[in-house]
Amino acid sequence: MKIRPINGFIRSVAVFIAGRISGISLCPFGIYTDFPDDPVIVNHEKIHWRQQVEMLVIPFYLWYITEYLIKRLTRNKGDAYRAISFEREAYTRQDAMDYLQTRKPYSWTRYISGPSA
Ligand SMILES: [Zn+2]
Repeated sequence: MKIRPINGFIRSVAVFIAGRISGISLCPFGIYTDFPDDPVIVNHEKIHWRQQVEMLVIPFYLWYITEYLIKRLTRNKGDAYRAISFEREAYTRQDAMDYLQTRKPYSWTRYISGPSA
């Protein structure tokens, strides 16, 4: 996947959902980040890339948005975003640079319930 700078449109949409972003993975187009040299941010986005590939992309976005809207009912924007299972997996594992070498498919499902990361 290509790593590119965040453009204005992507930033506007992401800010609407999450409040602010440091990166976003948009399979199949690429990973967008203002911090391409930050291994933790890039690893976080690569985890999302893997989630998107295994979910065949469109279902990933539908699940992501649905889960966000459900969690938004009882949380503010930032907390709802951090509570999405895809985000919980990525934030929990982003510091493990070898995580994607050992990650089992659909590992994000372990983060659907339970306390927010
Ligand atoms: Zn994320």
